[in-house]
Amino acid sequence: MRNRKITLTEAIKFHGHLGPYLILGLRAGELALKELKCRKYFGLRVKVWGASLRPKSCLVDGLQLSTGATYGKGNITKFNGSIIKLVVKDRDNSKKVTLTFKEDLVKELNGVKTHSESESLARMIYRTSNSKLFTIRR
Ligand SMILES: [Zn+2]
Repeated sequence: MRNRKITLTEAIKFHGHLGPYLILGLRAGELALKELKCRKYFGLRVKVWGASLRPKSCLVDGLQLSTGATYGKGNITKFNGSIIKLVVKDRDNSKKVTLTFKEDLVKELNGVKTHSESESLARMIYRTSNSKLFTIRR
């Protein structure tokens, strides 16, 4: 397993529980930062579609934790949408990446029925490679 910058324990401490969307926010934010090589906290702007209601909205906490873009600073915004999509923009050079979830991942997310299934999917997502989770457009 590749070491992640933010541990599961840190994510749970911030958000309050373990869930797949929280961990997807973590992974997506880390991936976007790696792709753009942008500055965490202030050097980026994050836009998220389709994550207005729980549990999908848990994604937004994972994103705040991994990108450092926060509601307090005003550099993360939610929009309504039928599918989850996020766009991260480097404020220094206006480069952007767009991330969506892979079809198989969406099926797994929609198939979760119990609390324990939700937690084990979250743990699985934490260890899964980026290419199996996200489609990335540069
Ligand atoms: Zn949650």
